[in-house]
Amino acid sequence: MPGILAGAIDLGGTKILSLVADDGGAIKGRDQRPTQAERGLDRVLGSMVESLRRACEDAGVGLDALHGIGVAVPGPIDLEAGVLASPPNLPGWNDVPLVRLLQERTRIPVLLENDANAAAVGEHAFGAGRGIRDMVFITISTGIGGGIIAGGRIYRGATGAAGEIGHMVVEPDGARCGCGRRGCLEGLASGTAIGRNGEHAARQGRSSALGEVLDKIGSVTAEDVSLAAQRGDTGAKEVLATAAKYLGIGLVTVVHLLNPQMIVIGGGASKIGDPLLGPAEAYMRSHAFPLLAAAVRIVPASTGDDAGALGAAALVLNRDLAESA
Ligand SMILES: [Zn+2]
Repeated sequence: MPGILAGAIDLGGTKILSLVADDGGAIKGRDQRPTQAERGLDRVLGSMVESLRRACEDAGVGLDALHGIGVAVPGPIDLEAGVLASPPNLPGWNDVPLVRLLQERTRIPVLLENDANAAAVGEHAFGAGRGIRDMVFITISTGIGGGIIAGGRIYRGATGAAGEIGHMVVEPDGARCGCGRRGCLEGLASGTAIGRNGEHAARQGRSSALGEVLDKIGSVTAEDVSLAAQRGDTGAKEVLATAAKYLGIGLVTVVHLLNPQMIVIGGGASKIGDPLLGPAEAYMRSHAFPLLAAAVRIVPASTGDDAGALGAAALVLNRDLAESA
């Protein structure tokens, strides 16, 4: 007999991922499909429910076998009201009462969490941070996000937005960030920033390898920078070293503020691996208080693209949802 089952939907700007997971974090069924946000709220809601139904079929159970449905969403939420505010990746979605709308369609209790917090919970419950009391999750992809596990629980702050690690200012008056402010970590060390700085190096003639990419493709990505650096391109290595330094500055603050036992790093751009993360960690170890630096391990995430959905499932499994249906 399977244990308790949870449904989970990770709603992204480009894809919907649905999972059915048991209380040990084993994935029993899954479905993935494009979000096609331009089709509007109703159609996307229909796709979410259909995707979860398909994941249930894959698991060999009906929707009614689910203890609850956890939904990870790409933006700020009102946790108590179950409302998704204005996610930048889902244009036209303003103050959507997602919990109510999904409960009406499924008759199953639903809870919301923002995707970075959900991914932190996923890594803590079922991934690299299993059994760790105080942990910080950092995801480096097109942006930089984070989530804080304090005393074994997700730390949400006053309005549920705690853990905005990407918007720590690490360079006053530095490069403009997507949020409109200057000098945020995200604007200096995200995959987007690494690609943009690689392109800049190419235009200035500081990287012949990236110059070739720019001539051929018309733009430069973080992956291009990583490949060029692996092949010994000096300009590309400098771009990575600069991003790593800012990441290191961010890690020093994370360590000083939260004194975590573990920092788990995930996200697409984290796949650059040691050329980015090695110097960042070294910077932290040489600039943070030695006792705090000695207490923290930095490890790669282990649940990959499933982190957000697994975290949403974990939140369902850890909470008595009976009263909210
Ligand atoms: Zn910012």
